[in-house]
Amino acid sequence: MLELQNITKEYPNGDSLVHALRGISVCFRKNEFVSVLGPSGCGKTTLLNIIGGLDRYTKGDLYINGVSTKQYRDRDWDAYRNHSIGFVFQSYNLIPHQSVLSNVELALTLSGVSKKERRARAKAVLEQVGLGDQLHKRPNQMSGGQMQRVAIARALVNNPSILLADEPTGALDSETSVQIMELLKEVAKDRLVIMVTHNPELASQYSTRIIRLLDGSIIDDSMPYEAAAEEKEEARRCAGKAKKTSMSFFTALSLSFNNLMTKKTRTILIAFAGSIGIIGIALILSMSNGVQQLIDRMERETLSSYPLTIEKTTIDFSSMMSMRDNMTSDDVTHDDEHIYSVNVMSSMMDTMLAGAKTNNLSQFKQFIDSGESGIEALTSDITYSYSTPLTIYNLNGKGGAQQVNPNHLFNDLGVGMQENSSVMRSGGLGMSMDVWTQLSSNEALLSTQYDVIAGQMPQQYNEVVLVVNDKNQVTDFTLYSLGLLDPAELKEAIMDAAAGNEVEIDTSTHVYALDEIVGTEFKLLVNTDYFAKEGDLWTDKSEDSTYMTAVLEQAETITVVGVIHPSEGATTSMNNGVIGYRGDLVSHLLDKVNTSAIVLEQKAEPDTDVFTGLPFRTEEEPVSYTMDDLTAYIATLPEEGQV
Ligand code: ADP
Ligand code: MG
Repeated sequence: MLELQNITKEYPNGDSLVHALRGISVCFRKNEFVSVLGPSGCGKTTLLNIIGGLDRYTKGDLYINGVSTKQYRDRDWDAYRNHSIGFVFQSYNLIPHQSVLSNVELALTLSGVSKKERRARAKAVLEQVGLGDQLHKRPNQMSGGQMQRVAIARALVNNPSILLADEPTGALDSETSVQIMELLKEVAKDRLVIMVTHNPELASQYSTRIIRLLDGSIIDDSMPYEAAAEEKEEARRCAGKAKKTSMSFFTALSLSFNNLMTKKTRTILIAFAGSIGIIGIALILSMSNGVQQLIDRMERETLSSYPLTIEKTTIDFSSMMSMRDNMTSDDVTHDDEHIYSVNVMSSMMDTMLAGAKTNNLSQFKQFIDSGESGIEALTSDITYSYSTPLTIYNLNGKGGAQQVNPNHLFNDLGVGMQENSSVMRSGGLGMSMDVWTQLSSNEALLSTQYDVIAGQMPQQYNEVVLVVNDKNQVTDFTLYSLGLLDPAELKEAIMDAAAGNEVEIDTSTHVYALDEIVGTEFKLLVNTDYFAKEGDLWTDKSEDSTYMTAVLEQAETITVVGVIHPSEGATTSMNNGVIGYRGDLVSHLLDKVNTSAIVLEQKAEPDTDVFTGLPFRTEEEPVSYTMDDLTAYIATLPEEGQV
């Protein structure tokens, strides 16, 4: 069923080549337990990865069910990995904070099996590996042997015909190793198991066949197999095309970055993973898979577009992936007498809220700041964002002085849109509602991700840059919301159209010279600037235009000092079309707020409201009346006709 013909694998290594495999020819039976032995570096992992479709051979051919894989396209490999292969690694690769059941289910979540079936299959396979009573434990509460069982369950849950195990007992003591070997032996009864191991005793005791590798070649095979010619012929006739599959994201994302390194696929994958929040999982999984370099690069590249974000409320987005189960199911039939609802909203809420949790962010920040977490070594940058909005004005905008952030453009146009929501991101241009966006404070990272095309990178808190895309474009939404175009024009057009007039919208491209952009100035308003002290009390002056004009004139100036665009090979498209500011702009703002007169005064007398001079209202006892009170009250009312 699986045959390698003179497979070689070369890895480029500087100017020379590493010959990881030097012509491997071997044929495997439908079910046997094969151990691959050999010293470190002899090519065992490479061999396993090629068999599993995680890595491509350089020369030779791999026959799957009698069919050459020379013409295999990506989706054929995906189908093969998805339907035929299960992987087990030395380091388990489990997600530590998810339950055992979720870890196993995850493999199915991502291959589009319904929620109910997923759960049932995950339970069944966990029972099979002897963990039926541990479903809700977390991996970090388990022993190594138990974790490896979970990993084996996860590999088996898709019922693959081939199980590949790379040193599955490498991290286990000898007693536990024996248990895992027993399990693998059991598993091998009805499928092909190929296991890489360092342990010749275990290999000879449990496996049915031992292949020895040395320096990329097979030097011994205890039970070679030459598939009968007629079997091959038969297979060739029946094989047809491989079953089509939706991309197995689990396998593809987490295990086979190697094959997916064309820029295009990579970007799509990153976009996908980022959008559903599983990039973190993928990174964890691949971390221990010997592709550290690759991961480093992935992390660098994804960071500026898709940082791992920790928010106050977390929602389990992986649950979103099962949404479609609830939406349209083929096996539902209805009569023609009624109409039926498909509960998109409620099931979305149901799945999302089931996993909603609130995080204690200030405690978390203390923990990160304390340096105990060790996260610095694993990240290129940590930034904090605050709910304090940046209030920015452009005093010399096309439409006169106007507030440009937070941006009211859509509201002004009468299009209901949640302010602060950054949902409207599209394609390469990334239409971000948050036009003002914090840049990473990792300058090395920034310089690998962006090229400066005019001016320079911001050097201090009051300097910002315009981030354009690789074609030097920004959306007109950005231009409107920076004051470079006059939003009033849009508003007028809408009013005009509403009044029944023919309206012509100018859709031509606006072109700016770089030096029209560089040097643009904005004013930074501190929230406390809206308030002035009159007598003993503070008053909100935001509606007082004379006052506001004076405040804005004295406000700090923020200057666009440069224009940057993504460097060659960067994957930052999602952040384009924004004004990038430095993290210290926020700390500067917070400092100003915290040292402002009104805040200091309020803090000095925390019980008295600085706006009213009165104590803050305390919770009042809810008033309740009895029936007697009411009767007594009614008795006091004037009689009819008396008024
Ligand atoms: P084993 O699993 O037997 O320890 P591997 O299959 O991991 O060995 O590696 C075989 C050889 O190929 C080693 O010399 C290793 O350095 C090299 N190699 C493996 N993967 C890569 C890679 N991605 N790039 C360059 N060289 C590699
Ligand atoms: Mg190895």
